[in-house]
Amino acid sequence: MSAPSDPPSGSEADAAPAPPSDAPPASEHDAPHASAASPRDALVDALRDALGPEAVATDPEVLASCAHDLTGRWHGAPRCLLRPRSTAQVARAVAACAAHGVPVVAQGGNTGLVGGQIPTAGEACLSLARLDDLEPVDVAAGEVVVGAGAVLSQVQQHVRRSGLDVPVDHGGRWGATIGGMVATNAGGARAVRHGLMRAHVRGLEAVLADGRVLRRLAGLRKDNTGYDLVGLLAGSEGTLGVITRVRLGLVPWQPRRLVALVGLPDLDAALALLAALRARAPELLEAADFLHREGLALVRDHHGLPAPLAGDWPVLAVVELAGPDDRADALASALEHALTAAGADPEAVAVADAPAQREALWTHRDGLNEAIAARGVPVKLDVSVPPGALASVPAAVADAVAAVDPAATTLTFGHLGDGNVHVNVLSDHADEAALTAAVLELVLARGGSVAAEHGVGVAKRGWVARARDPVEVDALRALKAALDPHGVLAPGRLVP
Ligand SMILES: Cc1cc2nc3c(=O)[nH]c(=O)nc-3n(C[C@H](O)[C@H](O)[C@H](O)COP(=O)(O)OP(=O)(O)OC[C@H]3O[C@@H](n4cnc5c(N)ncnc54)[C@H](O)[C@@H]3O)c2cc1C
Repeated sequence: MSAPSDPPSGSEADAAPAPPSDAPPASEHDAPHASAASPRDALVDALRDALGPEAVATDPEVLASCAHDLTGRWHGAPRCLLRPRSTAQVARAVAACAAHGVPVVAQGGNTGLVGGQIPTAGEACLSLARLDDLEPVDVAAGEVVVGAGAVLSQVQQHVRRSGLDVPVDHGGRWGATIGGMVATNAGGARAVRHGLMRAHVRGLEAVLADGRVLRRLAGLRKDNTGYDLVGLLAGSEGTLGVITRVRLGLVPWQPRRLVALVGLPDLDAALALLAALRARAPELLEAADFLHREGLALVRDHHGLPAPLAGDWPVLAVVELAGPDDRADALASALEHALTAAGADPEAVAVADAPAQREALWTHRDGLNEAIAARGVPVKLDVSVPPGALASVPAAVADAVAAVDPAATTLTFGHLGDGNVHVNVLSDHADEAALTAAVLELVLARGGSVAAEHGVGVAKRGWVARARDPVEVDALRALKAALDPHGVLAPGRLVP
């Protein structure tokens, strides 16, 4: 494992093929229009003129705030930190950087887990944090328009006052921005009910690589005048445009909620629990996640939590049911039925309906990323397999990791309904490239995806060409070349 201040020398990208010779430039040194005369000063001067001096930071202490990710795995040396307040300022910032041949990396809440938001090669870091306005909720349409920098938990509070909710939720809600969630097509625990972020983007506004503003904010339900540019920008991880505003589709807030933490003998039993919930009350199923006993022990240790259940169970399922006020009984009976159908031991079930207790149960799952980060810098791999193939994956992954690094600790957890497994490997002697290859090849052999919901970023860029066929890779490159011919936006990310 590399030291925290080292570049990710053994990263997944290292295990992958070198980028093609026609790949976009990675820094101002090879950008096609880099200025010969003192580009640093000229760029900063131009940016201060365009945005105002307080929106352009070059002080190393300030730059440090955007140069490291939460996992301690990705580190950068940003050229400068830009904090625009409006779409017009974002447009001016991107145009100035493009004119000076300096690439731009968009950063929202810096909760991303694949390094895409960290300016690892001297790029300008463009923070969207100040574009955080929340427009009034359009209750009739079930929509809200927010700035890209609006934080998920704030948007949740805002729309819940109107009886509506953001369909996508995850454990990074305290920091993740709507722009970042759209850019990564975030999933999370509720994907089992509502799908991923792209499905809920009714419109957006984005600044293109040349500084022009693309506006598709009208929110028309029927509009087939050409390609789906909104859908294309969702999941593009800052490589095709900097998202500045989003029109987000909302779902009804379900006030009655029941969370259960269930101890089970294996993942098959957890999948049986999910199947029983789906069969009995699909319209009430809100979330279904899993973790293993090793993960539970780590979270309890890190957060100082008491044992939540009697007994020592190999697998823990966290399920949530949610519905309107008049369905409280239906929630309880659906849960009871499913627990019986899955053969769950009644002694191994903790149930909560009050908000604080529900959150406390979720902490056993949501606290994992933080607990792992406190133990070391993990090799983090977010993968998915066809849901039917999920049960055997954690054990197979642990075996594959042990074959490469017998001393490593493998922790797996994830989302039961989506075949989505988060693999975290902790080791003092990790050969990241070998560990990554062992896990991702296993996933590909099972018909899975090497990038499920966290994105490709820097971490998995080299695996895209392995995971998609050559025709698809050509199409990805053609799209990038068409919208960002000079590699201004997030070079070295996503596109192989
Ligand atoms: C505790 C924890 C739990 C998490 N759980 C989940 C989970 O269950 N599911 C899930 O999908 N993710 C999860 N994540 C990952 C992360 O929160 C998401 O990827 C999130 O959507 C990123 O939002 P952000 O604002 O922090 O983006 P950042 O981390 O700042 O950026 C992420 C990527 O998006 C790009 N980007 C950011 N803003 C913009 C913009 N406005 N325009 C264009 N590009 C932009 C960046 O360049 C980068 O490539 C979790 C993270 C943490 C810390």
